[in-house]
Amino acid sequence: MMDTSDPTAAPVRWALAIHGGAGTRPRRLPAEEVRAMRETLRAALDAAIPILRDGGRALDATQSAVRVMEASGVLNAGRGAVLNQDGFAELDAALMDGRGRRVGAVAAVRHIAHPIDLARAVLDHGRHVLIAGEGARQFAVERGFALEPDDYFITPRRLTELERVLAARRAGSGSDSIPWHPAGTVGAVALDTHGDLAAATSTGGLTGKHAGRVGDSPIIGAGTIAENGVCAVSGTGTGEFFMRFTAASEVAARVKFQGARLEDAARDVIEMMKAAGGEGGLIAVDAEGNIAMPFSSEAMLRGCASYNREAEVIVDDEK
Ligand code: ASP
Repeated sequence: MMDTSDPTAAPVRWALAIHGGAGTRPRRLPAEEVRAMRETLRAALDAAIPILRDGGRALDATQSAVRVMEASGVLNAGRGAVLNQDGFAELDAALMDGRGRRVGAVAAVRHIAHPIDLARAVLDHGRHVLIAGEGARQFAVERGFALEPDDYFITPRRLTELERVLAARRAGSGSDSIPWHPAGTVGAVALDTHGDLAAATSTGGLTGKHAGRVGDSPIIGAGTIAENGVCAVSGTGTGEFFMRFTAASEVAARVKFQGARLEDAARDVIEMMKAAGGEGGLIAVDAEGNIAMPFSSEAMLRGCASYNREAEVIVDDEK
């Protein structure tokens, strides 16, 4: 616990932001699913806040928040993730520790209920940064992870979405012209009381994606980044744009080299991608505990809390 005995001491800062993906407004979904999303985001905050408040590590807090969202069945990560064009959940995840620039990431991995835990295992193992596909599965088995059958991940809603995307593609209207999903990828960013920053992102990617397609989430500097003294970022949206614009590191570079305010840097990078045709949003925290959560899509499920800000969850707002 932090020492509160000196009333004149500066407050010990911590901050947390999470997202449950950018996309179209969840209002179009059944009420109980929207409620489940809200409860999931609240549970993710509840998992991470005590860690930060009690002097724990940002890395552990972000991993804990993402774990909760991966298990929900209503977000695009872990169980309930979107399906690729062959009908499988192929998952990407990354975790970055701003202290020492330590990274663990996995890409296009199947059968793993919590890809963020596998990313953490890659980080803790320390030899590699990113392990993909069959090799990631092998690594998981070596580290004692259980393998889940494909059915574990597949929900009726994701099957319907895939059918719609494939039908539109067959009809020649192009899958990219219809909303890619009502809610997406999950992520968390945090500043802890030691001044360390961390970021975590986990996703099933895009509905109907080609087998083996890797998005921005596990690519450091695109969908995920954490640099102590600067900021931590987790993105969501059309990953091809986040990769082409190296979105996460673009936010960090503006804060670091231009002295931009976090909020301005984050919003400007989202706007820059929007101007080029890429939709989405991001969450970011900086070394002072400021939080930014801009998005250009219709909606972005999100939540935050900090040493001086009540916990808050937003699942459906006008934009
Ligand atoms: N950014 C993710 C990807 O392209 C998808 C999403 O955020 O919904 O893999």
